[in-house]
Amino acid sequence: MSYRIPFNKAGLTGNEFRYITEAIERGHISGDGAFTQKCHVFLEQALGVRKAFLTTSCTHALEMAALLLNLGPGDEVIVPSFTFVSTVNAFVLRGARPVFADIRPDTLNLDESRLARLLGPRTRAVVPVHYAGVGCEMDAILELARAHGAVVVEDNAHGLFGKYRGQYLGTFGAFGALSFHETKNFTCGEGGALLVNDERYLERAEIVREKGTDRGRFFRGQVDKYTWVDVGSSYLPSDILAAFLYAHLEARAAIQARRRRVWEYYHAHLADWARGRGVRLPVVPAHSEQPYHMFYLLLPSLGERQALIAHLRARGILAVFHYLPLHLSEMGRRFGGRPGDCPVTEDVSDRLLRLPFYNDLGEDDQALVVSAIRECA
Ligand SMILES: *Cc1c(COP(=O)(O)O)cnc(C)c1O
Repeated sequence: MSYRIPFNKAGLTGNEFRYITEAIERGHISGDGAFTQKCHVFLEQALGVRKAFLTTSCTHALEMAALLLNLGPGDEVIVPSFTFVSTVNAFVLRGARPVFADIRPDTLNLDESRLARLLGPRTRAVVPVHYAGVGCEMDAILELARAHGAVVVEDNAHGLFGKYRGQYLGTFGAFGALSFHETKNFTCGEGGALLVNDERYLERAEIVREKGTDRGRFFRGQVDKYTWVDVGSSYLPSDILAAFLYAHLEARAAIQARRRRVWEYYHAHLADWARGRGVRLPVVPAHSEQPYHMFYLLLPSLGERQALIAHLRARGILAVFHYLPLHLSEMGRRFGGRPGDCPVTEDVSDRLLRLPFYNDLGEDDQALVVSAIRECA
């Protein structure tokens, strides 16, 4: 079915085709070409991070982090249950056991007040997800993880350019993983990046990303041939994708301004309605700067959420629910997940509805979404 107003639509900023042509004309369309380099420098300078590596996805950036941490059987990784499968899969692939944490009822982020009782002698990593690009309580999370010798890996798929207490998300943990999937604020269709904030992992990160070889050193003239030195895989995106992505990164200010308008329009036009109906809108604490990744409604019940989805669909508008609790998934249950383990996740998952949200969503279309919502009691 095609919708009059889709949930997401990839936008163009204007320079995509020119940059792609340029990459092709240069004759370097494999990984780590000129546009990949531009994206690396852009991210490193904009975020003030030591090193950014473009990857083929956020999933792969998380897998790289799991490889770099040498995780394996016997290790535990604390993850929120309310997240995308990749947050967990990356660690399970290495044989680690996921320990599911519940979320805060306000920001829907990993609940730091529940972290202490989940941390144990086997905990090797904590993976906060900045839901909707609103920062997790990083002060508490970093302190608790440090006290237990656990490494923090931020899944920042939603939150590029968001800040917590003035510092960019993705720059707090040893690693930060970004997504450039079509549904994210900045995109090249499929893509991601690993931010390496802890120098100790730097050299090996380059090797793991290049099939376990010291090819990076070879290209810098530091060794006269390159060879297999460690485990690794192929995590480099084509420079054609980097060319597309660079056009988006370069348009950072325009993209953020557009998304901010979309978010603020929904908020301004739905706040009264929501208050009168027991519907909750997104909560953004004063110490958070959000990058306007999504706009959601928390309806009073599953029934009302489903009714609103159907009502909007009948008017050609696609609004969608979000994560199902991972601890109750088929895989999650194999790791011991049971109903009641994460009550906030279980509740919110039933009631959350995401509204159409993309860079080119115009006010006329937003007005249609808002009036359709308002007419559904
Ligand atoms: C989108 C997303 C991912 C996966 O990103 P890919 O680039 O598609 O691999 C991981 N975690 C979260 C929280 C996401 O929203």
